[in-house]
Parts: sequence; C-alpha cells; structure tokens
Amino acid sequence: MQLTDLKGIGPAAVDKLKQLNIESVLDLLFHLPMRYEDKTKLTPISHAQSLQPVLIQGEITKSYVIQGKRTILVCEVADDSGFIQLKFFNFYYSQKIKMQTGKRILAFGEVNHGMHGLEMIHPEFWLAEDIPPLTDRLTAIYPKTEGLPQKRIQNAVAQVLGHLQTGLINLPELLPKDWLEQATLPDLQTALHDVHQPSPDVDMARLLSGRHASQKRLKIEEMVSHFLALQALRQKRQQHQAPVLTLSAAQKQNFLDLLPFTLTDAQLRVLHDISTDLCQAVPMQRLIQGDVGSGKTAVAAGAIFHALINGKQAVLMAPTSILAEQHRLTLAEFFPDNEMAFLSGRLKSAERREQLARIADQAQVIIGTHALFQEDVVYRNLALVIIDEQHRFGVHQRLSMKNKGADKDLLPHTLIMTATPIPRTLAQVAYANLDVSVIDELPPNRQMVNTVLLDNKKMPQLADRIQAACKRGEQAYWVCTLVEESEHLRAKAAEDTYEELQDWFPNLKIGLVHGRLKDDEKTAVMADFKAAKIQLLVATTVIEVGVDVPNATLMVIENAERLGLSQLHQLRGRVGRGERQSHCVLMYQAPLSQNAQIRLSTMRDTNDGFKIAKTDLKLRGPGEILGTRQKGAMQFRLVNLETDKDLLDQAQKLAQLMQKTHPENCQAIIHRWQRQAATLAKV
Ligand code: ADP
Ligand code: MG
Repeated sequence: MQLTDLKGIGPAAVDKLKQLNIESVLDLLFHLPMRYEDKTKLTPISHAQSLQPVLIQGEITKSYVIQGKRTILVCEVADDSGFIQLKFFNFYYSQKIKMQTGKRILAFGEVNHGMHGLEMIHPEFWLAEDIPPLTDRLTAIYPKTEGLPQKRIQNAVAQVLGHLQTGLINLPELLPKDWLEQATLPDLQTALHDVHQPSPDVDMARLLSGRHASQKRLKIEEMVSHFLALQALRQKRQQHQAPVLTLSAAQKQNFLDLLPFTLTDAQLRVLHDISTDLCQAVPMQRLIQGDVGSGKTAVAAGAIFHALINGKQAVLMAPTSILAEQHRLTLAEFFPDNEMAFLSGRLKSAERREQLARIADQAQVIIGTHALFQEDVVYRNLALVIIDEQHRFGVHQRLSMKNKGADKDLLPHTLIMTATPIPRTLAQVAYANLDVSVIDELPPNRQMVNTVLLDNKKMPQLADRIQAACKRGEQAYWVCTLVEESEHLRAKAAEDTYEELQDWFPNLKIGLVHGRLKDDEKTAVMADFKAAKIQLLVATTVIEVGVDVPNATLMVIENAERLGLSQLHQLRGRVGRGERQSHCVLMYQAPLSQNAQIRLSTMRDTNDGFKIAKTDLKLRGPGEILGTRQKGAMQFRLVNLETDKDLLDQAQKLAQLMQKTHPENCQAIIHRWQRQAATLAKV
C-alpha cells in the first residue's frame, strides 16, 4: 500500500510528508506522537481547570465583537454548571454569523481565569451538526511540517491503523511470542495502537517520557533490527575466505626484539587477540580502542610483521597525509629490510604510477591515505588492512581492495584503530559488527599533561614558558584554531600568527604547517620538527591526530573555546608522549559560554579519555558523536541512545536469540526498519 492510497493524501501531501522523513505507510506508523489531547470526555464548565486543555459543551448565549486596540470576537457559552467566554483575536465575520445564540457548541482548549470569569482563547470548536461524537481514545499530536495540517496526519495514521486491524495491511509480529510474554511487553499491533491511540487511563507521564511498555517494545524491535543488520554485514564478510597467517613463538619474539621498548601488558593482550584472528581463514574484523598515546602504532606494527612473515602485503591507512607520512617513517625504522610503497591523493601522476606499480609488485608494507581505496589500486597479495584513527572518516569506508593473482578471491583481514573512547553502551551500538579490543593502559612513566587555562589578555605570560621549554631543549606546538570552513582562511590565520611569533621570539627556530602546503612541504616541516631543527611549530588542526614527537612538551591552543572536547583531547595528545612533564595551555577569549566553560574545565581537570568522552556525550548527544561516522546505521527512528540505553542489553540478547531460534524473521526485521523498505505487502 502506498501513501497516496490513503484518503486525503495526494502528491502534494506526499511531498510534505517527505520533509518529515515519511516515505511509506510504515514510516507513518513509526512517526510517533509528541503529545496527546484528551477529547474523550466533557468537563462541566464550572469544573474546568486551567492546567490541561479540556472539552466543554454548551449553548451559545451571546456572541459579539469588541472593537478596540484589537478586534475581538467573544462567544459566551453556558452549560448546566456555569458560564465561559470563548475569545478569538483572528476571525472571519462569517465565523461570527455562524455563532448564533442558541446553537450548541463543543470547544476544546485551555481555560483561563479572565476579567469576566472563565475564558478560552482560540479554542478548537465545532458547531451544532458538525459536533463529532466523542472518541474513546486520546488524540495524538504529531510533529508536523509547514503546510500539512495536524488533522491530515492524524487522519492518515488512523486509516493505516484501521487497515492493520482489518488485515488490509499486513504487518506480522516478528518478535518471538514467548519472549514478549516473558518480558511482559505487548505485541506489535497492540503497541502501535497504544502509542497512536492510547486509552484515556494510560499512564500519561510514562507515555510522554517514552517509557511506556508499548514504546519500549517498538524501540527494542528497532534496536534488534540494528544489531541484526550489523550482524548480517559481519556474516557477509565472514562467508569469504581470508589468508591463514601463521606466527611461531620464535617469530613473535623476533618482533618484540625489534621494538625499542617493552610492550605494555595491554598492548601484548591486544596483539594476541589480533594474532589469533590472523591465524583463521575468516577475515578479521577487529577494532582497537586505545586512548591517545596508548601505543596503537606498535600494535599495528606487530600485525604488519605477522603478515610480512607470511610473505603477504599489509596496508596501513591514515586519515591525513601528515600522519601517513609519520607512519611511513616509523615503519621504515621497524622494517628496514622490507619494501615500502606510499600512496596519497596528491602525488604527481608519474610518481603515482610508480607507486601503483610497486603496490602491484614488490611492495610489502603499503602506507597512505584514502587514496589506497581507489579503484585502480591493485595489490599483489594483500592480507591485512589497518585503518588508523577511523573516527576521522566522515562515512564508514567500504573496504573494497582488489587483490590480483592467487589471492584474488581472498578478503584481507581488517583492523580499525581509534582513539575515540566512547562509552560502552555506545560502542555496543556503533561497533556491533566488530570484535573490540581495548588498550586500557598507557606506557610506563607517562605523566599527566598539566593543563592550564589562560585568558587571551594574559598572552604575554606565555612567552616565558615557551622560552623556558626551548631552553631545556624541548619543543612546543602553537595551534591556531580558526574554525572557518575555508582552508585558505585557516592557513592565512596561521601565517599571521607565525609572523607575529617570529617578532616575539627572534631567537627561536619557528616552523609553520597547515593544510594548504603541498605534501612534500608538510613532510619537510614535520621532519624538521621531529629532528628538533624547529623549536616552535605553528600549526592548524592538521596536526590533530596521531602526530608523535615525544620531545614536544608544550602545547598552546589559541581560542580553545572554539573546539569540541574530543578535538581538544586529540590535540593535547600530541604532548605528554615521552617521560618528561608536559604542559598544555588553553587560551580563551572571555566571556565563555557555559558549555565552553564545562569543556575547558573538563580538559583542565582530567587527562582520562573516557571521562572526557562521557562529558562530550552529555554536551553533544550520541547523534553528534556517532552520527557522522556510521551514517544510516546510526540513524534511529524511535530510539534515543541517551535515554534508551538501558534497553540495549535486552535488545542485543534478543537479537542473538532470534538468530538462533527465529532466523527466518531476522531478515524481515532488518527490512522493516530500514528506510528503503518502502511499501507494505498487500494481502
Ligand atoms: P597512539 O595510540 O596515540 O597512536 P603511538 O602509537 O603514537 O600512540 O605511541 C605514543 C608514543 O608512545 C610513541 O612515541 C611510542 O613510541 C611510545 N610507546 C608506545 N608503546 C610504548 C611502550 N610500551 N613503552 C614505551 N613507549 C611506548
Ligand atoms: Mg596513533
């Protein structure tokens, strides 16, 4: 059944409904009311209270127009119990003519105590023969859109509910009946009727807070569909074969001996998870979560080593060319004897051709940016893909990487690494298709980054700090945070700051890096900074993720109030990477908004990524945090991840149960809750 099959819904209304994200009859059913009105009973006028709108019925005793500053139509109504004035400030004279003395009138509105006793301002009303019979259900009020009257939506939903009842629309129960009984939750039909047409004795507070059993049931079904959809994604990959990569204990030791430090227990544990996966013939789908500075790169190197030992190719992809370049340098140190290739979007075509040829032939370790995913990149025998800092990617990357030769039909193992520490409940939703390992420990002897807030006006105080750090042989970042969309303006602001700082610190070697530089220019600046040839690096937020220069111990962030918490945490993570005490100065422009105050004081008070993420979640909401990453997958119709997170466990268990006991319903549930499921099957 199509929307246009409903009475009162023509092509124009369909367009309007689209703005509400309603494209099918099913969407209409899942378009839940925001509140309800009680038009089930008449209230005697004298009992009418002013808190809730009420329905009154009486006889018109008089109607007249008052001319004054505003023209007012007054209609006086009486019933057996009392008397009330209905007032209209905008009206047609035809309306006045209809309101004849002696006519019956039904009015719905809030009651006020006015100068002349009780009054209703602009009530909804019906006259004489137009008075409808009382309903026995509450009236739902829906979120609506310009140009589509509430009545039209109500009427459309009512038709659909009617068709459900008569069986003209078939919407089968997909949750197991015994499970529903055990959880004391209603079946689908009941739930839909309950939310759209609740009975007057419903627990209204509960309904309005979205916690009524019927709402819970619908939300759980939506969550189940989300879990099943991600699970289906996972299973689809698992149907493919992946190369079996072996690693002996001696080989593992060889890798550990390569490292300039001893891995932490957490790193070892995570590396063990990965090695175990790589020995399987199913593609690994694992996520590594580890706070900034927890040492994810070394773990990635371990995985790469594992692939190399088996004579296979490994890819490491980073979100920025600066980070990719840094990884190239780090891995070149770890694996001096292995052939490397590097691919970023900005290579000249001759160089790009050369790198593509290397990737197709002798390269063993391949590093780069998104460019690695392009169609024309063909690998010789790719066995492992590592994606670093994946939270930086707008939309989840399709892992379409082509092998040639004997490995053509094998999918590579994939490992995703992120520093975004999201609370467990959210991780559960966002990463339901991945195995998750957490590096929950920092390398030894790390000190908290000492963070201070400094009003822009006190900028001069900074000069001493910077001089002192550089005198000790340490280095500093100066981050410019113009939030302009234009890379050009951001670069300009950084250039201005760069020149200003050169005036301030004529004795220091100062560098500048921003997004407008060519890749090789960026590389040169970063290499100079790493080699300590630059003491103070002026940068835009291009250095936000991953950059690792342990000798840098001071970070200044200009106008820190402009940045979100996760970004500040990432930026600050560029210092505090060695054993020396590091400092972070968050400059701000007073006065601060309350939200900015919370962000900055959170940064001052803690270094703990999980605590910061929790506050971030409170300030921004889960949609903001996850929404851009896993578009589609994260868009719920009914579920609010913040307020409904206590239902997640139940839903996840149910999804697992259904895969075992009701596999035939799983696909249908996914289909039902996906946007594309456009029309309902006609019986
Ligand atoms: P992130 O998890 O943020 O990617 P990195 O992998 O860049 O962190 O590591 C941060 C710094 O810590 C690097 O300088 C790295 O060499 C160092 N490091 C990593 N693991 C250890 C360890 N087990 N012991 C000492 N230093 C380590
Ligand atoms: Mg990193």
